[in-house]
Amino acid sequence: EDKFVDESDLLKFHCLGGGNEVGRSCHIIEYKGKTVMLDAGIHPAYSGMASLPFYDEFDLEKVDILLISHFHLDHAASLPYVMQHTKFKGRVFMTHPTKAIYRWLLSDFVRVTSIGDNNNSSTLYTDDDLTDSYDRIEPIDYHSTIEVDGIRFTAYHAGHVLGACMYLLEIGGLKILFTGDYSREKDRHLNPAEVPPHRPDLLICESTFGTAVHEQIDEKELRLTSLIHNTINNSGKILLPVFALGRAQEILLILDQYWAENPDLKNIGIFYASNLTRKCMSVYQTYINMMNDDIRKKFRSQNSNPFQFKYIKSIKNLDKFDDLGPCVVIASPGMLQNGVSRELLERWAPDERNLVLMTGYSVEGTMAKNLLSEPDIIPAVKGSESITRRIKIEEISFAAHVDFNQNSKFIELVNPKSIILVHGESNPMGRLKSALLSKYHKFKNTKKEVKVYNPRNCDRLHIQFKGIKIAK
Ligand SMILES: [Zn+2]
Repeated sequence: EDKFVDESDLLKFHCLGGGNEVGRSCHIIEYKGKTVMLDAGIHPAYSGMASLPFYDEFDLEKVDILLISHFHLDHAASLPYVMQHTKFKGRVFMTHPTKAIYRWLLSDFVRVTSIGDNNNSSTLYTDDDLTDSYDRIEPIDYHSTIEVDGIRFTAYHAGHVLGACMYLLEIGGLKILFTGDYSREKDRHLNPAEVPPHRPDLLICESTFGTAVHEQIDEKELRLTSLIHNTINNSGKILLPVFALGRAQEILLILDQYWAENPDLKNIGIFYASNLTRKCMSVYQTYINMMNDDIRKKFRSQNSNPFQFKYIKSIKNLDKFDDLGPCVVIASPGMLQNGVSRELLERWAPDERNLVLMTGYSVEGTMAKNLLSEPDIIPAVKGSESITRRIKIEEISFAAHVDFNQNSKFIELVNPKSIILVHGESNPMGRLKSALLSKYHKFKNTKKEVKVYNPRNCDRLHIQFKGIKIAK
């Protein structure tokens, strides 16, 4: 570090969550007297105050704007807490579909976290907090630039889930791109992430899959449908634990089409057990115009909404569900912490004909992650006994995060001067950092040098940007 640093050239980055971990994403950028906060999530493996980012480490009163990348809980679920229970008084922005889904999602989150909790130790905020803060959230369109007191920002498509965006920010001539969670693969309903038109000085980038490489999308779909079909032929039941919104809709599109193409399956029940999924289906039906060409064409040519499924039925709860013979149930929560997916797992775990098919990303410390190690017994949520586990476990990632090839290609196209890695467990993030450093090794100590940082939570990173010109 240079001893005689001009303070005004310094960018300060504070990682309050999502540093060397997946969960509770929250990052703060300070530059030229402006303060921007990126995302406000919770950590799905913890509850109550322990699930929050380290908000005590920063004076939230200083924050000018808070940008939310997408509706997933690990990026948005502590927002009502920030707006109602801290000194924060800045402006909050998110895209229209994100805001539409956020309302339903978080009121479900309030309900789930307050179940069986008499002293409110795991409730971070109430439904009233949610309502009171909701109207102060400003919805934005993709590709339209907004200026707040010298900070300019634009949202670009990020793939991943409906409404997800990347933010390109400009403060005092310095350009910063924050990817949030993003995907570059073309799927059935979303536009893949775009490469923004301006080169950023700093890229803040997710690193979920580190240096791992995904299967091709066709291979993944084929493996998913054949695993399901074979299990049904062997009289087994299939549990697909998914987060209620986002990737669940993609899986539903795949299965509805597969059922249409395979008449032998027409008597096999296929269900989604989530009131939240049902409630938000209208949001999906409404925002078809923000999805990709394929699904919009389908919508126009068939004159029917692709999110009105022909073969998939919704069930309100498990009391109404005739659990006889082979079937497929898509249930939340995706990480099997509690609720319907956990109840079905415990019920179906002893039978070796059954299959649990994991399609999302499993965070450290959750039942989903535990299952991937194929334990012989699993703990029951209620009571103290354990359950024998003979159910088969398979994992096919439909998590819609970039893999190493897609991530490093994107970084090459974006061509940033510095990179900060966030949203990844230590090991995959460390491997990604090494791979990037060796890729850019040839530029070391030249003008083209690319710096890569992987800060931990509560780390304060100072990066110097000399000679940034302010465009008038
Ligand atoms: Zn996400």
